[in-house]
Amino acid sequence: MSVRETHDARAFPARPARSGAAGKRASAGDIWRLLEDVPDPEIPAVSVVDLGIVRGVEQAGDEVVVTVTPTYSGCPATAAIRLDIEKALRARGFDRVRVESRLAPPWTTDWISAEGRAKLRAYGIAPPEPGGCAGTAAAPVACPRCGSLRTERVSQFGSTPCKAQHRCADCLEPFDRFKRI
Ligand SMILES: [Zn+2]
Repeated sequence: MSVRETHDARAFPARPARSGAAGKRASAGDIWRLLEDVPDPEIPAVSVVDLGIVRGVEQAGDEVVVTVTPTYSGCPATAAIRLDIEKALRARGFDRVRVESRLAPPWTTDWISAEGRAKLRAYGIAPPEPGGCAGTAAAPVACPRCGSLRTERVSQFGSTPCKAQHRCADCLEPFDRFKRI
């Protein structure tokens, strides 16, 4: 286990650089943990890791390369995600950060982690149902507030094009539902 394996990532910048290395050395796991704190610009309750946007982390020399697959194409959040990742890693002392976009395979809601789905629900957004698309179009959407299945779609678009707006017939609350793609 390396000396970098510490829970207090803020300690990193305080350490003197070794042997004149300009960049920081950290394990990919350390960088993944830092990225878990980078919120999605549109849904700050979930991180870019929760959403499955971050596809890979590697160190090339003294450069950190983060590969991301944007969510819905055309989502204006993509540029913000790139900046947020660069900013978060620079703040922890990673001076050279490159964020690369990978468009294939396209992002799918199946990449949202179980933790991410739980966070979405707690935030009041019905998460997309995982996997098995056969015949799920008519599957009822559970209200994230009361759990009722008596819900209906009000609009194809919610607060962003990535979501549809639904309404619960029991608690009468409208809610966004993450569209499954
Ligand atoms: Zn409800």
